Amino acid sequence: MDRLTTDLAAAIGAAHVLTDPELIAGYTTDWSRRYTGTAQAVARPGTTAEVAEVIRICARHQVPIVPQGGNTGLVGASVPSRGGVVLSTRRLRRLDPVDALAAQVTAGAGVTIAELQAHAAAAGLEYGVSLASRESATVGGTIATNAGGLHTLRYGGTRAQLLGVEAVLADGRVISRLGGVEADNSGYDLSQLVAGSEGTLAVVTAARLRLRDST
Ligand SMILES: Cc1cc2nc3c(=O)[nH]c(=O)nc-3n(C[C@H](O)[C@H](O)[C@H](O)COP(=O)(O)OP(=O)(O)OC[C@H]3O[C@@H](n4cnc5c(N)ncnc54)[C@H](O)[C@@H]3O)c2cc1C
Repeated sequence: MDRLTTDLAAAIGAAHVLTDPELIAGYTTDWSRRYTGTAQAVARPGTTAEVAEVIRICARHQVPIVPQGGNTGLVGASVPSRGGVVLSTRRLRRLDPVDALAAQVTAGAGVTIAELQAHAAAAGLEYGVSLASRESATVGGTIATNAGGLHTLRYGGTRAQLLGVEAVLADGRVISRLGGVEADNSGYDLSQLVAGSEGTLAVVTAARLRLRDST
């Protein structure tokens, strides 16, 4: 192992740092198989603190990061084009109980849209974004791409479902706006800024999401 992978393994556990070409192939080629690249490693942090540590380590080694959720993005942005580390969010699987009164839920970036929909449906509610890639596309990826889908005309795209995010900045600082306050006018609306930013501003680790009455 080189210094980079040794440091990553010390931070998040060797089992969650992949370097074997066969194991990382699914992370370096996208869903369409039109885009493929190379990576020094795939890091699979399991908590927000671990995401921050991976980002700090990569910054220290001056290695670029590509955040990746379900890898269904279709435009090549989820795979590295010039090496570096793929930061997979799939282990960020927090899924809080639905707040049925407020019609809100907090979900980790690695929760798939299908899982989120099932969770909302169990509480008699609906998540406003649905797309054919829902079994793999993640909460974080759909925020980063501001994904639309089958219900966009009715409910708007992902941005319209977003009440807040928790995210890690390029220097490892964590911003957290998961309070779910609808009329929050304190400072910049960082959550809306992150929506559609394709991983260029921050790595989303969790989100507070609006749910809809499904009747
Ligand atoms: C069959 C099919 C149907 C689709 N239908 C639609 C559709 O109807 N509407 C639509 O908008 N899209 C659609 N898509 C495209 C795709 O599913 C969406 O863009 C989806 O939002 C990608 O989510 P993902 O988790 O797979 O993200 P990925 O593909 O892994 O990543 C996409 C981008 O987001 C960044 N990213 C991922 N996770 C994070 C994170 N946690 N923090 C910061 N950046 C992150 C990546 O670096 C990359 O730039 C479809 C794709 C397929 C294969």
